[in-house]
Amino acid sequence: MTKIGFIGLGNMGGPMAANLSKAGFDVTATDLSIGAIDRAVEAGCKRGKTIADTVEDAQIVVTMLPAGPHVRSVYGDEYGIFNHAKSGALLIDSSTIDVDSARKVAGDAAAKGFSMVDAPVSGGVGAAQGSTLTFMVGGEGAAFDKAKPVLEAMGKNIFHAGDSGNGQVAKIANNMLLGISMIATCEAFNLAEKLGLDAQTFYDISSTASGQSWSMTSYCPAPGPVETAPSNRDYAPGFAAGMMLKDMRLAQEAAHSAKAATPLGAQAEALYALMESAGKDGLDFSGVMKLINGTL
Ligand code: NAD
Repeated sequence: MTKIGFIGLGNMGGPMAANLSKAGFDVTATDLSIGAIDRAVEAGCKRGKTIADTVEDAQIVVTMLPAGPHVRSVYGDEYGIFNHAKSGALLIDSSTIDVDSARKVAGDAAAKGFSMVDAPVSGGVGAAQGSTLTFMVGGEGAAFDKAKPVLEAMGKNIFHAGDSGNGQVAKIANNMLLGISMIATCEAFNLAEKLGLDAQTFYDISSTASGQSWSMTSYCPAPGPVETAPSNRDYAPGFAAGMMLKDMRLAQEAAHSAKAATPLGAQAEALYALMESAGKDGLDFSGVMKLINGTL
């Protein structure tokens, strides 16, 4: 049975580790939180007391951590994965982090004889629980092929995006587009309403015309037209504005380093940051509607 070491058992990592165990992998799991480890053990994983303990027998290591600094430290520090994993182990980082950190850690992994992929996910906690995540994977083809069966136990769409870091590139470029398109959708609904056109009528027309987008038809920020959208439950997340802001900031960092012009991405980041300053970053990101229509 393939042995997996799993590090980072938060909102996403907890259910992902549970699903690996359910799929028949021999999973040892750890976190800084004892409660999170307890829940993983209840879900069928073995208790990892330390990172060393979690990875030393593993053929595959999966990490699901908050941000770049956590990933750099969990892999590279004295107590970390590079110093304790078996040589030749496959390392899969599914955290959403900055492209530069992803490429640096993958380079260090290769120098130490590990193969590594970045494999950030799209889909929230519900998708993590239901094993329906989308994985965007960066790394060599052979590493991708080895990672695929593990990722398939946690997700339903697995894409190879190219070399190391390209999974993160796909993730932040997609989320920058989503963040911008949501704001544009809010502006359009607000304009229509201010000019006397109700949300349902505008939706019926625009959703079959050229303004149609995922933000409109799956996640409509105006209450009413899409029953399952967070706008119909006072913008309870869903995907919190604070998480969207994290991804918009990563996109801007990457844009600066690549000298890519992203004027609308910069504006969108500023608007989600205003939700954060107002203490409303716990609302769903489609709650940016409230900023646009003045009800935040
Ligand atoms: P989370 O904060 O709930 O979980 C992170 C976990 O990592 C925590 O349990 C924390 O204790 C653990 N951790 C931190 N440092 C550690 C260390 N040194 N050793 C061991 N454990 C450590 O975050 P999350 O919501 O599960 O998100 C994880 C990643 O997935 C983030 O990069 C996030 O951007 C990304 N993501 C989240 C969502 C979502 O909807 N929550 C969706 C897509 C992508």
